[in-house]
Amino acid sequence: MAKTPKIVIVGAGFGGVKMVRSFHKKSVEVLLIDRNNYHNFQPLMYQVATGGLEPGNIAYPVRRIFCKYKNVNFRMAEVLSVNIDKNQISTSIGTIDYDYLIVASGSETNFYNFEPVKNRLLTLKSLPDALQMRNRIFQNLEHALANNRKEPIEEIMNIAIVGGGPAGIELAGALAEMRKHVIPKEFPELPLSKMSVNLYQSGPDLLAGMSQEASEKSLEYLKELGVNVFLNTRVKKYDDKTIMMEDGSSFTTDTVIWSAGVKGSPIKGFPDEAIVSHRISVNEYNKVKGTNNIFAIGDVAAYITSENPKGLPMLAPVAQQQGEHLAKNILKILANKEMEPFEYHNKGVMATIGRKRAVVDLPNFKFQGGFAWFVWMFVHIFSLLGFRDKTVTFIDWAVSYFSYDQPLGMILKPAEFNPETEKKEVKEKEEA
Ligand SMILES: Cc1cc2nc3c(=O)[nH]c(=O)nc-3n(C[C@H](O)[C@H](O)[C@H](O)COP(=O)(O)OP(=O)(O)OC[C@H]3O[C@@H](n4cnc5c(N)ncnc54)[C@H](O)[C@@H]3O)c2cc1C
Repeated sequence: MAKTPKIVIVGAGFGGVKMVRSFHKKSVEVLLIDRNNYHNFQPLMYQVATGGLEPGNIAYPVRRIFCKYKNVNFRMAEVLSVNIDKNQISTSIGTIDYDYLIVASGSETNFYNFEPVKNRLLTLKSLPDALQMRNRIFQNLEHALANNRKEPIEEIMNIAIVGGGPAGIELAGALAEMRKHVIPKEFPELPLSKMSVNLYQSGPDLLAGMSQEASEKSLEYLKELGVNVFLNTRVKKYDDKTIMMEDGSSFTTDTVIWSAGVKGSPIKGFPDEAIVSHRISVNEYNKVKGTNNIFAIGDVAAYITSENPKGLPMLAPVAQQQGEHLAKNILKILANKEMEPFEYHNKGVMATIGRKRAVVDLPNFKFQGGFAWFVWMFVHIFSLLGFRDKTVTFIDWAVSYFSYDQPLGMILKPAEFNPETEKKEVKEKEEA
């Protein structure tokens, strides 16, 4: 009997999950690997970072997604590298063989020349990042009240966001609303006039990948919410607690949020010519150049054409469409049929600014405002995995819509484990 082909997929993000779903009940053996045991809905991470939602609202356990799929297994592991000649990947739990390998490992924060100070910047690329940001923001508010170190209160309360793309403006909007509605209620002793939310954008427009209307409206909405927006302002340096701009101005704050870009996150082992600007170069079938049975999809894949010289945009629908299409193509290969080239269908892009305003660019129609926000809200609720996540998120949003409340600003830090203290305690118990 012929052996069932083994398909190994690295990454349970938007592309990986969609692809595995497309293999349901097909005659293939699928092994999905991710460093985390959950799928993370990144577009709503800014809400976790600002206390609007809990992590459980936007993350879903991978095993639960696929528990009814008899041909799918999951391993939680870090994939380290690929050995193309041996059809093997090396992982934190050992070596794994594959017949077909799909790399769907997404992207990571691009710090550009801020790499040396990256540990002092807050980022928003994972759930731990979002929780760290939430901890810092709410801890700083507590700290501002106590202010034992006698720092200027502005430095503790002010927030600087570097990068005016979707993540930067969504964060700025949520923080401005928090400043307006939550802080006066929960921290009535704090002087609000000392807290500012500042957004720095190197180019002339916010939301550079969207339409001019979306860019202009998002600027207007942010200003209405009291955000200080600095356009054409490139941050040059970050020293101690001060960010310095190219125009000579500077700003001192405890909280600098870096949302200035992402880069592909490929695994090691590919020849240099297969990597273009941190992404894996693929052809129209998402096949990695120079290989026969390795494919890449989503943020990590660069499908470069004259229309898209930098590759397709790093967006969830691109990853999902590629995942679904590639699954069909692999089944075609197995049936000795011709593969079909991938074509991206842009169904629209949107971003929200605060609780009631959004900008939506559909291929033939653009709109902004309150209705756009309702569209944004329903699209995001329906995109969440799992009935529980959808329901709980909808209820949380409905409550905060009417009550202007963001009730979840708890500072949750992992308990510290000190092996020396542990050993001492065991010894003391034994001696006693
Ligand atoms: C803050 C934020 C907001 C966003 N908002 C939007 C939005 O509004 N609309 C939109 O369309 N897109 C948005 N995006 C982009 C969107 O999330 C990505 O385009 C999408 O997640 C790409 O899907 P993917 O499958 O390629 O990668 P991901 O969804 O990132 O999944 C990659 C997976 O691979 C795993 N992984 C990576 N490396 C390894 C390894 N070596 N070993 C094991 N596992 C590994 C990761 O843990 C992760 O689960 C946003 C992104 C961010 C960060």
